[in-house]
Amino acid sequence: CGIVGYVGPRAALDVVVEGLRRLEYRGYDSAGVAVIGPDGAMQTAKKAGRIENLDKELANRSIAGSTGMGHTRWATHGAPNDQNAHPHTSTSGRIAVVHNGIIENYAALRAELEAAGVELVSETDTETVAHLVAAELQGAAESLADAVRTVCRRLEGAFTLVFLDTAEPDVVVAARRNSPLVVGVGDGEMFLGSDVAAFIEFTREAVELGQDQVVQIRRDGYTITDFTGAPVDGNHFHVDWDL
Ligand code: GLU
Repeated sequence: CGIVGYVGPRAALDVVVEGLRRLEYRGYDSAGVAVIGPDGAMQTAKKAGRIENLDKELANRSIAGSTGMGHTRWATHGAPNDQNAHPHTSTSGRIAVVHNGIIENYAALRAELEAAGVELVSETDTETVAHLVAAELQGAAESLADAVRTVCRRLEGAFTLVFLDTAEPDVVVAARRNSPLVVGVGDGEMFLGSDVAAFIEFTREAVELGQDQVVQIRRDGYTITDFTGAPVDGNHFHVDWDL
């Protein structure tokens, strides 16, 4: 129900968990984070229940890194438990995804993956997307953003999706259809949010994505395309209200 993404010089975990707290007002049943470590490994933590439960889990871990994302879940497919909480990862752990919304055609996608021998470990509609993106990257896709565009063309329903790829540790990629996604433009750092509350304490410069668009954020900027890869301009605005 809430999404945060970050790339920049700060500790991504702190930015992301703080962003999730700012989105708590929307309601949720589980929370989770993913951060790419200095060693290039995908680190994830997720817990059913309140963000305090996730905090307790995080207290036993040391998750460093400056590229990350977080999620609060409002379950639609699969019970609200630790396993179904987001992020979901590809089998190798290379790809992590968080998702708000519903993938309407997930049953067909899941059947296709299972027929190809992929073992799914959750009951969610979301997990299919992690495996599909990983498969594109083992095939013809040239980059995470490219793989995400190809997969999004196959998805039906409503989604804000955010992805990390250990092969591109300095970028975060996100996509949207029928569900909101905003970029926060900082100085040497970039943010993503399901709404501006996710990053308002860090920047008030924002770019709203249009329908069926993909964004790649880096420390020094962002690139937006449609699902075919054609470049598009985002709708830039200044947040001049207080939350
Ligand atoms: N459909 C996904 C799930 O049930 C995402 C739900 C959400 O919007 O948080 O896991």
